[in-house]
Amino acid sequence: MTELMAPAGNLEKLRWAVAYGADSVYFGLEFGSLRNFADNFTLENAEEGIRYLHTRGKKAYVTLNIYPFSDEYDRLIQTGCLLDDMQADGLIVSDLGLLAALKKKNLKAALHISTQANTTSWQSALAYKDLGASRVNLARELSLRQIKEIQQNLNGHIETEVFIHGALCFSYSGRCAISDYMTGFGANRGQCKHPCRYLYYLVEEKRPGKYMPVLEDNRGLYFFNSKDLALFEYIPALTEAGITAFKIEGRMKSIHYLAATISLYRRILEGQSISAQQALAWLNRVPNRGYTSGFIKGAFLPQDYSWDKSVSAGTSRFAANVIESAAHSCTIRVRNTIRSGQKLEVLQPGKNLFEITLPSPLQTTEGKTVDFAQSESHLLLPIPLPDYTILRQVLQPAD
Ligand code: SF4
Repeated sequence: MTELMAPAGNLEKLRWAVAYGADSVYFGLEFGSLRNFADNFTLENAEEGIRYLHTRGKKAYVTLNIYPFSDEYDRLIQTGCLLDDMQADGLIVSDLGLLAALKKKNLKAALHISTQANTTSWQSALAYKDLGASRVNLARELSLRQIKEIQQNLNGHIETEVFIHGALCFSYSGRCAISDYMTGFGANRGQCKHPCRYLYYLVEEKRPGKYMPVLEDNRGLYFFNSKDLALFEYIPALTEAGITAFKIEGRMKSIHYLAATISLYRRILEGQSISAQQALAWLNRVPNRGYTSGFIKGAFLPQDYSWDKSVSAGTSRFAANVIESAAHSCTIRVRNTIRSGQKLEVLQPGKNLFEITLPSPLQTTEGKTVDFAQSESHLLLPIPLPDYTILRQVLQPAD
């Protein structure tokens, strides 16, 4: 079965990714990865994470995918060697110099080519193989026809992975200078401030400070704002094409996002029959920018942008998650205010959604009774829910 790769911004998220069905987890360190604003892993965290994954039969990949300056190589190579000693299964790189340097070290860890390298041809993929890579990420900018053609020409000589879900850049993935230009924080250094998600106005040069609205509708114009990628309908075709791994984007996303996305794609990979409407309803439970199939259908079209808003709230609010389970009860950590008697939807690994009604009154872990509880309170529920259960308030019924 095709490997399902999930992102993790910290150790807690790594555990959630495993619980919800990831076959492998990729994460970055404080230095060298393209997500400087994720929590990121210390070397100690990385070692613990790799051990956690291996004891559960899962794989660990670590991103070293910045485009480094000359004086940064020694540190990156040393980090790669340390990760190899920790038995990381793969190191994800973008830079040719770093690939060559790590290859010379004869590491046990496989070398994977990051999405940041924008590999759009089988010629390029085979060149990476010759340089020592064992897996290449095929660029998000490819159509299904192009992916199939690449797969045929690679003929199994190098593993391939494809992003099936997550945020999209409006430019060639990550090769974008507007964050550097507008905020001084470089996307290719892992510091993107996401100006493609800002709301824009028009200013005429002789009228500084007079912001003229440019309207797509009455809420404004987010003209760089791509919808989020969701390729659930293409999983059978991509599987048939022989892709090695399906990758989910989002090292900065929440445990709710991880649980919802990983569980959907795990179900699809296991052959459960899920209609497009059901998949969208499932994914819409978490915040998103609207969903698109991106370039895989052949072209990026006007409807693939979300011009009227930069993010939707989703059709549910993350209410709480189970942090300790017992035979007849569980302890939950509240994430958004909840009330006694409230109905909440339950998301659990490998289970269908169902609903519970909270007791009235609620009971705190200190034994107090309360009518409502705010974020970060801990409550004792007389319901035996297992670890990694998410409770959420449905704001709109599923489509
Ligand atoms: S600003 Fe937007 S398009 Fe540019 S790198 Fe950042 S996320 Fe991608």
